[in-house]
Parts: sequence; C-alpha cells; structure tokens
Amino acid sequence: MTDSARRIVLASRPVGDPKPSDFRLEVFPVPQPGPGQVLLRTKWLSLDPYMRGRMSDAPSYAKPVGINEVMEAGTVSEVTASNNDKYKAGDIVLSRAGWQTHVLSDGSGLRKLDPELAPVQTSLGVLGMPGMTAYTGLAEIGTPKAGETVVVSAASGAVGSIVGQIARIKGARAVGIAGGPDKCRYVKDELGFDDCVDHRDPALAEKLKAACPKGIDVYFENVSGAVWDAVFPLLNPFARIPVCGLISQYSATDAPEMKYKTAQIFRAVLTKRLTIRGFIVSDFWGRFDDFIREMPQWIKEGRIKYREDVVDGLENAPETFMGLLKGRNFGKQLVRVAE
Ligand code: NDP
Repeated sequence: MTDSARRIVLASRPVGDPKPSDFRLEVFPVPQPGPGQVLLRTKWLSLDPYMRGRMSDAPSYAKPVGINEVMEAGTVSEVTASNNDKYKAGDIVLSRAGWQTHVLSDGSGLRKLDPELAPVQTSLGVLGMPGMTAYTGLAEIGTPKAGETVVVSAASGAVGSIVGQIARIKGARAVGIAGGPDKCRYVKDELGFDDCVDHRDPALAEKLKAACPKGIDVYFENVSGAVWDAVFPLLNPFARIPVCGLISQYSATDAPEMKYKTAQIFRAVLTKRLTIRGFIVSDFWGRFDDFIREMPQWIKEGRIKYREDVVDGLENAPETFMGLLKGRNFGKQLVRVAE
C-alpha cells in the first residue's frame, strides 16, 4: 500500500471552456486520523456538470471552490482506519471527499452503504443525486399525467435518462433530445422512450415537432440554447418546465444568441399559462425516503435502466470532466479511483 495520496486542485478559474492548466495534480502524505476521525480512501468519484459552476466565482446557489482547493465531488469511499465509534475499517460510505484519493472525516455527512443491496457506485448515480434530481424535478414540478408528452434534453445522461423512463411509468409519452445517433438509438431502443431527436441535426426543430404531434406538456430543461429554441414553440397551454440545468451555457463568456427574447417568452407564459420553475435537488431532500423506496423497486422490475461511463484513475478526472461538458460521456460519468 502506498503512503502517498493524490488530489486535484483548482489551479485557476476557467475563462470559457475549462482547460488542463485550470487543474493541478498534487501528491501529499496520507493523513492519519486523530481522535473521533476516520481515514477515507476514495473508490469512486462522481463527475457532474455542476462542478463547472463551482470553478467560477460568479454568484450562485453554492460557494465556489477556492483557488488551490481540492475540486468538490461526491465519492464512494472506504474507511481504512477509524477512531470513530460509528465506523470501522472496511465500511463503505457515501461521502464528499472531492477529487482526491484520501481524506480525513469526523464522520459527519457520511452515509454507510450496503454493497449487498446495490453496486455501491449507484449511490452517485441512479440511486443518488442525479436519480433524485430526475425523480423530484419531474414529480414536484413536471407532474406528468397519462397521455401527456414529456420532453427531456440530455436524455442519455444521468438525469435525463431517468426522467424519460419515469415519464413512461406515469403513462406519458417520453421524447428525448440527445447528441448523435448512438445516444438517440440507446434512448429509444434500450431505455424505451417513444422517440428521440438528435440536437446536432440541423432540422432539430422540425424533427422535434414531428416527434411531438400533440405538442409538449412537460419540458425537463437540462440544456438551454438551441434546444430550448426548438422546444419553446411546441409548448402546450399549461405546460410545466422544471428548469434543472443549462449545460450549453455553463462555459459561455457572452450572453447566448437565442431565438426567442424575454418579451416573447413572457407573452407565452401569460397566454399559455406556463409554469417555469428552477430547482436544486436539495430543495426536495424531504422526498429522499420515497425515492429510495421506489427507485430500487423500479430497477428490480426492469422499468428503470441505467448506464455508467467509467474511467480509471484520478489523474484522468480533469480530461474526463472537460469531455462531460462536451457530451463525450455516455451515461453517468464516474471515475474509478481505486478497486
Ligand atoms: P449528463 O450525464 O447528461 O452529461 C451532460 C450531457 O449534457 C452531455 O453528455 C451532453 O449530452 C449534454 N450537453 C452538453 N453540452 C450540450 C449542448 N451544448 N447542447 C446540448 N446538450 C449538451 O449530465 P447530468 O445528467 O448529470 O446533468 C444533466 C443536467 O442536469 C445538467 O444541466 C446539470 O447541471 C443538471 N443537474 C441539475 C441538478 C439540480 O439540482 N438542479 C442536479 C443534477 C444535475 P449530448 O451528447 O446528448 O449532447
């Protein structure tokens, strides 16, 4: 066993797309737990689009990562040494260790995972934050009814893939929007969406219209930009729009060129009585017990499928994260830091 640990820190705040020099890999001695502490070794690291926001110091709902601080992340970690009565060596926990191989914890904020119940890394995906985001955003804001049309962008990803499948469980028609034919094929043929449209297709607006002959009742927004421009004219009266993410804008340095301007959008909000509501998954943590009861059951019944995109090695996290922002991931993006 090595006695040196590794971490990736934020070296500089990106301007536009993040680049390799915005990150720095550091080596440091494995720390030893003090009284009440545990030593955690990272097994799985979750890469998520929100991390782009943490790299910026623009005002947001969460505090940015400081320069020279470890990049923030949810992790699955193993307790390798413990001076804390609640944890023993060998326990597997959900933690927020960030982009590093080892960290000390006083035990607060950790959740023990049972490897017998589900593969532990699913607590970072379908049974974790992204799954919970899909479950709550759709149930609390989207409120799909049988026969309605639900459209979701970033449809092959960690959140979007679950949104469309839950929409189907609720009896709605699910239409995905994803990047490229392989992702669209997966969304339709493997996840069972009714249709999927490629946002890179120059005829996106027409193809989406054809895929939604009765208009759109729920649009689960993950992307913004050109995708929103294609969705907006198709919204039905009383449509609900959970605004979950705007990934096409996260690295933008200027206000995006979008077709529909505020006055047109407000007019539609009024005349069509649209509900547009942003949310952060933590707004709905009170629904966690429902989520963790229903989602594993749906997986067991084969009604929810999920896909993981696994990259090995902490040192590959920056490049993989940069790829995630460009759609190079296919499924929930994970880094396997240690076996
Ligand atoms: P994904 O696994 O879906 O990965 C991101 C995907 O975004 C890429 O694979 C890519 O898919 C798509 N994408 C990237 N750039 C563009 C673009 N310019 N136009 C269209 N699509 C693009 O990530 P998640 O499922 O984890 O996250 C999806 C969204 O949900 C993000 O916006 C994220 O910030 C948000 N989110 C919000 C939360 C909240 O609490 N509000 C919590 C969790 C996530 P493709 O190849 O199909 O283009």
